[in-house]
Amino acid sequence: MFGKGITFFRLLGIPVGIDASWLLLAGLFIWALATGVFPAGDGAAAPPVSWIMAGAGVLGIFASVILHELAHAVVARANGIPVSGITLFIFGGVAELEDEPPGPRAEFQMAIAGPLLSVALGLGFHAAGLAGGWAGLPRAVTELLGYLGWLNLILAGFNLVPGFPLDGGRVLRSLLWVWQDDYIRATRVATAVGSAFAVALILLGLMLALSGSLAGGVWWLMIGFILKNASQLSHRHALVRHALEGERVSGFMMTAPVAVAPELPLRALVDDYFYRHHFQSFPVVSAGMLLGSVGTREIKRVPRREWPARTVGEVMVPSGPDSMIGSQDSALRALAVMSRGGLGRLLVVDHGKLAGMVTLADLFRLVAVKLDLEEADQAPLEDRPPPMPVLWSGRSAGP
Ligand SMILES: [Zn+2]
Repeated sequence: MFGKGITFFRLLGIPVGIDASWLLLAGLFIWALATGVFPAGDGAAAPPVSWIMAGAGVLGIFASVILHELAHAVVARANGIPVSGITLFIFGGVAELEDEPPGPRAEFQMAIAGPLLSVALGLGFHAAGLAGGWAGLPRAVTELLGYLGWLNLILAGFNLVPGFPLDGGRVLRSLLWVWQDDYIRATRVATAVGSAFAVALILLGLMLALSGSLAGGVWWLMIGFILKNASQLSHRHALVRHALEGERVSGFMMTAPVAVAPELPLRALVDDYFYRHHFQSFPVVSAGMLLGSVGTREIKRVPRREWPARTVGEVMVPSGPDSMIGSQDSALRALAVMSRGGLGRLLVVDHGKLAGMVTLADLFRLVAVKLDLEEADQAPLEDRPPPMPVLWSGRSAGP
């Protein structure tokens, strides 16, 4: 959805990145706070104090969102799930987890950690504001603390809406998961609530926009659309992961893929392999050992008249870990490697030897069959898992 942010710093060993879109949000917030929030009331702050407060307010928002995501990340890590980082983007933050929670208990703990921390922060800021008032701190400071207190409580409240993939939706799913012992059904219910909430936000945005407050309307419209999209993606992602759980690459790989020898002239490669098998590339194998692969891109670099004289070995690209998988690796890992590299297929290699090939199409056929069997005794799914890889790993989209 958004690009990977630049890593700014590490917190407890977890890289924290900021998407460029967040800087836009920071600018908007500073302006809105300085002109709309902090000058309110009598004896109110005037420039430059209101602008300083606005800057401090945005820093406070920044810290609050990061701490919320950090709470998710730390609990995830304690449950044995690797965390690749935290990224802030325009509508909040995401803690990027490399795996799904192993069970409802871990899911519940991870999901509730963020909102709990936000509630604690909210109460803490309010308490600090009150204490500051008694201690005679300037009104600018106490107002700012109070504002951050409310902001954290709103952040917690919004994320606790029980619609997947918001934190509350994950809490709901984990509870349904325990109650009915049916992961797929729990995911479906939590996602349906998430979609309904997203539609409500879209309608709210439309009403606001039509009644004259265009900026607020567009804001809620966008959050609604992002949430709607995210809930659908998360649903598909959850189904796919569930179906592939426990499957090994060896179970659905294609054995004995068509391979070529390094001595083969390019002319013969084109005539006898590319024209005959219609693959985009072929593994290059010598005595069973994988050397690399050769595709149309490599051939196009060589002028046509040189094809008879040049060999595959001269133009092939050596295989790297990004295009390989072991036959005993999990299907989920294969999916992750494909998704990371944007690849439609991987070579299966055991101890340097080419053992087979897996394609995305094979993976999704497996998913479709498994889900079909699993759903056999339930009402038919309206949205069947689509033939596309979706790896949404966000945990929350705060306001
Ligand atoms: Zn959260």
